[in-house]
Amino acid sequence: MSYFDYAAHTPCDPEVLETYMRLVRQYHANPNALTQAGASARSAMEESCNQIAATLQLVGYEVIPTSGATEANNLALKGVAKRYQHQGKHIITTYLEHASVHASLMALQEQGFEVEFVDVQADGQIDLEHLEDLLRPDTILVSLVLVDSELGILQNLSKIQALLANHQALLHLDVTQAIGKVPLALQGVDLLAFAPHKFYGLVGCGILMRKKEVMLETQVHGGGATTSYRSGTPDLAALGACAHALQLAIEQQPQRTAIVQTWQQGLLAFFKNQPSVRINNTVHTIPHIVHLSVLDEKSETIQARLDALGIEVATKSACSAPNTISKACFAVHKNRKQALSTLRISLSHLTTQAEIEQLKTSWTAIWSK
Ligand code: PLP
Repeated sequence: MSYFDYAAHTPCDPEVLETYMRLVRQYHANPNALTQAGASARSAMEESCNQIAATLQLVGYEVIPTSGATEANNLALKGVAKRYQHQGKHIITTYLEHASVHASLMALQEQGFEVEFVDVQADGQIDLEHLEDLLRPDTILVSLVLVDSELGILQNLSKIQALLANHQALLHLDVTQAIGKVPLALQGVDLLAFAPHKFYGLVGCGILMRKKEVMLETQVHGGGATTSYRSGTPDLAALGACAHALQLAIEQQPQRTAIVQTWQQGLLAFFKNQPSVRINNTVHTIPHIVHLSVLDEKSETIQARLDALGIEVATKSACSAPNTISKACFAVHKNRKQALSTLRISLSHLTTQAEIEQLKTSWTAIWSK
């Protein structure tokens, strides 16, 4: 098997799994319990939250544990929209967003919010002049993805923050595909969502970072002991494992990315010479992605042919509906045919030379027939 779907899910680092198991064994009490054991569990949980904020160099944020980035995005978007609707009902986003953002915003639109989409340029960056034009006195939220989950395009956060600096609109940033892949400077962003299963942590955990001045309307009601925004017993072991995975991802980001860069360069050189292949990467695509279209082939057909030979790739992001166009590819390249035949190869520092060779050999075998 050759695995090229790291943007969908990464294997859990054994060290991180060890941390999870240690915490499960060490703490038996509910962190919300008013007992000594509860207090000790709570303090372990708070330590992990502090570590998460410190690793991201974020000061003045609440760490809200969720079940994944999907829930973190839902809580951020619905929570802000409902809490700030007295100031306006206008929200700005892009067609590069993950389904959990897009679908949340479409649900809000059904409830009377107005959602507008910023144009995306040919290099994949959002058009900042258009964003400026779209901003209105009643815009309450701008929701963007820092690195999109399909073409892997990195947006220019400092320019976006400068543009929004004098506007009341809050900035929600989905950083799920950015963590551990690019250097990060996130201070000042109002809401940040991510999940550790994208950076060698465990699935079933997600984080929403909320700047403390930003209010949300609660989406999961209950006792509200850990956070008033999302009730329920917090999974302290999952939070500890997340803190550990995050620390490794941030510390090792430069070395890991350097390895990935060599895989990407090799594959781009290979695919450049393949008939019917269009490379959808732009200069802003991160090193972890090779995004292709195989013209006149359906994404799912290409994926199935490769899968039959033991090569695991994605068509779009893992949560997208099959047999639909890639919204992200269409937003950047404005070509329907290209957006119907996409393939995402996502790479890791764990990728091996043998896997790269198997991919190239299988590709040649399938398309030389
Ligand atoms: N946001 C982005 C950019 C993603 O790539 C993903 C997962 O693919 C998600 C959100 C959703 O993450 P989760 O699977 O943890 O809910």
